[in-house]
Amino acid sequence: MDIILASNNKHKIKEFNSILKDVFPEQEIRLLCPADVGVTEEIEETGTTFAENALIKANACAKKNYISIADDSGLAVDALGGKPGIYSARYAGTHGDDEANNAKLLDELKNVPFEKRTAYYVCAIACVLPDGESFTVEGRANGHIADGLYGEGGFGYDPLFIANGSPLTWAQIPEEEKNRISHRAKAACLLAEKLKEWWETRSDNEAKSLS
Ligand code: IMP
Repeated sequence: MDIILASNNKHKIKEFNSILKDVFPEQEIRLLCPADVGVTEEIEETGTTFAENALIKANACAKKNYISIADDSGLAVDALGGKPGIYSARYAGTHGDDEANNAKLLDELKNVPFEKRTAYYVCAIACVLPDGESFTVEGRANGHIADGLYGEGGFGYDPLFIANGSPLTWAQIPEEEKNRISHRAKAACLLAEKLKEWWETRSDNEAKSLS
């Protein structure tokens, strides 16, 4: 079964591959990237929410008779009214400059005490089904923003993010542990449930033609 993933990010490709293998154990899954379906230009994320942006990307790569999937994620800090939010990747100006993004966040929170530094990661996944119908799911991970950078693992805001129930940042815990409790894991679980449901209700008819 060919499934379109609207991302060129190697981590995401690996993660979605394993989720989809689990959802469709009897199918050989082949993930297609945007270029495989003729989408070579940058998809503009013009939405105002993670879910809207995920859907824009999934729709931009969607093709009749294929499943198309995209995600969008980021960090929301309560004391900053939900910022950096959908601008997480380019909060300090340059896309993907984690160091500058973290420094900006620390600076903005410098007078905020720990108990008021609550934050959550969000991951929205959008899925366009072969008949054009679509849905979105969302996973969250709640925690606090630390007073400095701790740990070498993870990426993005992980050296600052302390999930509830642990004293460590996500840059200090093993990757497998993060991947079990993360916003992406929760959204992926919901996606898997919905796709399984869809597959089971349609396995006699059109769905079969996808394999
Ligand atoms: P995207 O969904 O890949 O575009 O991610 C947007 C941005 O959100 C990333 O560049 C990171 O700054 C931040 N982000 C999303 N998920 C995580 C995470 O699991 N750890 C750290 N930062 C994250």
